[in-house]
Amino acid sequence: MNEVVQVSRHPLLLHRLALLRNRDTAPRAFRQVVREMAQMLFFEASADLRLAEGKVQTPLAECVGHQLAEGLGLIPILRAGLGMAEAILDMVPTAQVWHLGLYRDHQTLKPITYYNKLPPQPNIDLAFVMDPMLATGGSAVAAVDILKGWGLKRMKFLGLIAAPEGVAALRGAHPDVPIYLAAIDSHLNEHKYIVPGLGDAGDRQFGTH
Ligand code: URA
Repeated sequence: MNEVVQVSRHPLLLHRLALLRNRDTAPRAFRQVVREMAQMLFFEASADLRLAEGKVQTPLAECVGHQLAEGLGLIPILRAGLGMAEAILDMVPTAQVWHLGLYRDHQTLKPITYYNKLPPQPNIDLAFVMDPMLATGGSAVAAVDILKGWGLKRMKFLGLIAAPEGVAALRGAHPDVPIYLAAIDSHLNEHKYIVPGLGDAGDRQFGTH
């Protein structure tokens, strides 16, 4: 069983993380930074993808070439995961994108599924579930529950900032799902926001309040 929580220390990622946290970063720049950070995290999280060898003819000679040999699915948790998925889709354009809409009920604080566009049968080898903020972990656990119930075996979670509570919840429920992050912050506040965090990742990407 793979039990990974990988918090990247890459300087290019950490530089962008400060821009993301800064409350003066406007939505346009914020979206761009989400995009770049998602691609950097995906680069790390995809380092073990299987390849098939083939032959490629250069202008000078024939040599060995490689091709991705896994069918990939990108699963953005709506709505904040959208910016990450679009960025990653540019890196793996043949991936399938399945949107999952989950919101937190204000009374119970439990995740409610309001949108699920999964096809009847899983037809991919590996899925990347993404949400910039792993706060309570409720949505991430619910998303992985849904995907496992649907028959998917291999998944990885990509997030930008996590609270320790969210990491513990996801690891506790799904220890077989590796987690890739740019930071694990201090704690959740009484409204279940990550502190120091960056505020509401959806509002900051889409200019809503
Ligand atoms: N979702 C967010 O967008 N921000 C948080 O801090 C927690 C959940």
